[in-house]
Amino acid sequence: REPENAEGISQSAAPPVTTFAPAPRSPGKPARLWKPKHVYVTADAYREEHGRRIVERLDALGIGYEVMKANRLPKLGGSTTAETYRKAKNTLAIVNAPPSALRLTPIPPSADWQFHLAKGCPAHCQYCYLAGSLPGAPVTRAYANLDAILENNASFIDPNRTLTTFEASCYTDPLGIEHLTGSISRAIEWFGGQPEARLRWVTKYDAVDPLLDLEHNGQTRCRISLNAEWVTRRIEAGTADLEARLHAMRRLARAGYRVGAVLAPLMPFENWREGYADMLQRLREALDFEVDLTFELITHRFTPGSKDILLEWYPKTPLDFDEARRSKKRNKFRSHKFVYPKEQMTELKEWFGKEIEARFPEAEVLYFT
Ligand code: SF4
Repeated sequence: REPENAEGISQSAAPPVTTFAPAPRSPGKPARLWKPKHVYVTADAYREEHGRRIVERLDALGIGYEVMKANRLPKLGGSTTAETYRKAKNTLAIVNAPPSALRLTPIPPSADWQFHLAKGCPAHCQYCYLAGSLPGAPVTRAYANLDAILENNASFIDPNRTLTTFEASCYTDPLGIEHLTGSISRAIEWFGGQPEARLRWVTKYDAVDPLLDLEHNGQTRCRISLNAEWVTRRIEAGTADLEARLHAMRRLARAGYRVGAVLAPLMPFENWREGYADMLQRLREALDFEVDLTFELITHRFTPGSKDILLEWYPKTPLDFDEARRSKKRNKFRSHKFVYPKEQMTELKEWFGKEIEARFPEAEVLYFT
């Protein structure tokens, strides 16, 4: 079993209270496959077997790249914030993960350990948590020393536990770059050979074809990040639309994967109950067969630093960054983030608890935060 969280939502709630007329179904709009305009491969990355595999993929896709003489990347910034953002979001760097990346750290409540296949993401979500956690220009760096990264995970599998869990998407959306790297496929196969470990990763993309025939042996939980149409249409540019994500999730579940719905970031926009009820109902219709399903619920939050960066990147965002309508939540590092006030959190938690329980009595809600 995967770790449970103390904040898990009660599973004994009443039937749903929200009724609505479901929106007409569309076939879904897939995410466009990212074609970076600038690609750099460092000298060390080019020596790695996986680095060469990535280069072969670039060749096959007709994407140009520059192999560097050393390991230093060229200056990636522009003269204004907007130019830096545009340029960086169009840049892929193939590098080796530094030795520090092999010292794994815990990532509660999601998993026991986090490890990284890449850092950065080509999508444009206006709340992106990477804005506050990755410094500098938002370039996507994919790791070429993948074999060392995966083998390193073996030393973190606890022999005294039945299952040790590993999260691979703290700093990237692995499926958004899979056509360029093939890294999540290799990670899934590696975990397929580790009966005492489980891989967890999450995406807002939908190009799951390469994953469907992998030997995952039930050791991977593929999670899809879902939100109401109001959010996905306005705030998550570059990702697959809701219907395409639901379709991807259905296909992954059909391929025997454990699946998960990461409902994030939850936000009480106008008519949020109808919007989220529509999303949950469509998820139920997409998963109309027996499935190993978990839910993770994460409300919208921001730090002072991430707010500044995001407002520079997305000055016209409809996201509510008004600190006066939030509560401060401090952490052990003496910094703080802004979350919804307690009453609003309670309302969201209770509403989602009831609606999920009514539609998905078989599913487990891992946490609400
Ligand atoms: Fe950030 Fe995830 Fe959106 Fe990528 S898909 S921009 S990592 S929130």
